[in-house]
Amino acid sequence: MKVTILGYWGGYPINNEGTSSYLIESEGFHLLVDAGSASLIALENHLDPLELDALILSHYHHDHIADVGVLQFMRQLKRKNNGEDRAPLLPIHAHTENPEGFKALTMDLVSEGVAYKEEDKVAIGPFEITFMRTLHPVPCFAMRIEEIKTGKVVVYTADSGFLPEFIPFSQNADVLLADTNFFEGMENHRVHMTAVEVGRIATKAGVKKLVLTHLPQTGDLELLKAQAINHAPDVDIVLAKKDLTIEL
Ligand code: ZN
Repeated sequence: MKVTILGYWGGYPINNEGTSSYLIESEGFHLLVDAGSASLIALENHLDPLELDALILSHYHHDHIADVGVLQFMRQLKRKNNGEDRAPLLPIHAHTENPEGFKALTMDLVSEGVAYKEEDKVAIGPFEITFMRTLHPVPCFAMRIEEIKTGKVVVYTADSGFLPEFIPFSQNADVLLADTNFFEGMENHRVHMTAVEVGRIATKAGVKKLVLTHLPQTGDLELLKAQAINHAPDVDIVLAKKDLTIEL
């Protein structure tokens, strides 16, 4: 199982790097988790986007779905080669609590919205995915992505303020991709988490590797990391970076 970070800034892209998007691969299956701004061009460095097998979305904020439309157009324009269809319908898994957003995921011959609910256990290729509703201004779901064959687990908090439920949800995860949009001092915010909160989750859940992501554009990111380390001294902690690849 391999995780590649395609974009990691919160809210908007900066310095030629984009917002939330993660490529998760196993056994030749390519799953994209969120498709933020600049994620399509970042994906092209790793994979022909025609080879993407599925996309799953946590919520409908622009910094998580900005490139869904251009991914659809790209597959629409490139799928025919000498009359041969090179790309099957792309399943886009998402919740339906934003009916207009969900509807836009289906495009004739190109992509198809596939609904998930919080209580579902969804099999997508070699992965099994469970969900947890987060604390955010719009409906948003964290994901626990397990590689069925090995039992390896990646947990993605998506966007959220702190919830104690993240501790059982992240239990023994090999990798935790955690919304760390805020520095220490902003705890109990209702939209995003701080370095302190994600550090505590990682420690209490026994997470092996914590990736700080959905990062703020202002402030010293090394300080953000140090704040997380203070609360998770035994966890391997890294700052998200474009094209960072984690093998597990
Ligand atoms: Zn959001």
